[in-house]
Amino acid sequence: MTRRRKMVERVTTLMSQPEQIRNIGIVAHIDHGKTTLSDNLLAGAGMISEEIAGKACWMDSDEEEQARGITIDSSNVSMVHEYGGKEYLINMIDTPGHVDFGGDVTRAMRAVDGAVVLVDAVEGTMPQTETVLRQALKEGVRPVLFINKVDRLINELLVDEVEMQIRLGKVIDKVNRLIKGMNEEAYKSGWKLDAAEGTVAFGSALYNWAISIPYMKTSGVSFKDVYDCCKAGDMKTLAKSSPLCEVVLDMVVNHLPDPLVAQKRRVPIIWQHGDPSTTEGQAMLHCDPKGPACLMVTDISFDPHAGEVATGRLFSGTLKRGNELYVMGTAKNVNRLTQVAIFMGAERIEVESLNAGNIVAVTGLKDGMVGSTVSTMMEMQTFESLKHYSEPVMTVAV
Ligand code: GDP
Repeated sequence: MTRRRKMVERVTTLMSQPEQIRNIGIVAHIDHGKTTLSDNLLAGAGMISEEIAGKACWMDSDEEEQARGITIDSSNVSMVHEYGGKEYLINMIDTPGHVDFGGDVTRAMRAVDGAVVLVDAVEGTMPQTETVLRQALKEGVRPVLFINKVDRLINELLVDEVEMQIRLGKVIDKVNRLIKGMNEEAYKSGWKLDAAEGTVAFGSALYNWAISIPYMKTSGVSFKDVYDCCKAGDMKTLAKSSPLCEVVLDMVVNHLPDPLVAQKRRVPIIWQHGDPSTTEGQAMLHCDPKGPACLMVTDISFDPHAGEVATGRLFSGTLKRGNELYVMGTAKNVNRLTQVAIFMGAERIEVESLNAGNIVAVTGLKDGMVGSTVSTMMEMQTFESLKHYSEPVMTVAV
């Protein structure tokens, strides 16, 4: 069996185990390092080779796999991460950093349950950090924080070890003030970021290392080690003793909710007008693979082989090729699925069936549009429409 085929098997097995799934997005102000972080996470998880990370050109050499029609789709990626002797499926959706694409952030936040908020240690939070954080909180998406470019603090700003920690602390305080101001209820219910608990990590996406307080305790790597290595330009030692992928994905697995937990909180927010006591309401609240399929489309792309591909979040039910679905708000035409697929690395791979709680791709949804509510039921209450908040809300002192 090829290494890739084994990986496909691991991914497909995990997608039916919701406790072992995390649906996440990385959100950031432009240039804070989101692309570098996502590429290096994928490479670290063994989904693309480290040499080509950043070039999105992981080509398949296995002819059998090629015959099954695998397509690169860099906007959605999935990877497998091992933590505490268990494997986890991390479905990661791309979110553009540029404010012009704010609508795409909105869609991505509908599909995920957790967000890695990435902030440049030198620049600190910026207006787009606020916008994307607000969007995440509006969608009931839980944040953790990654403070990037710590190497620049030391090598360009020439701060000492104490000053480094003070500056990192200031970034955490600022993000916490934003969370509290945007959603005090969530902040008080445990969404306050806390470095000691491990909801914050620091590091350098470019040089492939990261550190968190829990990871310091198990690895023995200290702030002093981080400082000394950066000062000496020895990033390789840090990348070995404190690998970016391990630290960041440990934080994701440990602190961002699985779909079973997340959907209980999120369904009442994103399906406000729905009745939770209905069959579909119960199925979505419990992420039930046996309930009616309820899918929200968050992206439509065109594939030269497969045609229109709809990507979205499957909140309940199971989807298979040949299933008949209905798109709410359109004439009740039957939309028959021609392909159901998941993502492995940055590729779309056709599978037998798709389970509730995943970010999925389907073809054959001819009436589907971005924002569509799709179901095996002919009628259901639609999800809340996607609202984009383009500007941070200004507070004016009077
Ligand atoms: P994006 O716009 O958020 O996707 O940012 P990119 O990932 O494209 O990174 C923007 C720039 O910051 C690039 O030149 C990266 O090489 C650089 N960069 C990213 N992470 C780091 C880091 O940890 N340290 C340093 N020094 N530069 C970084």
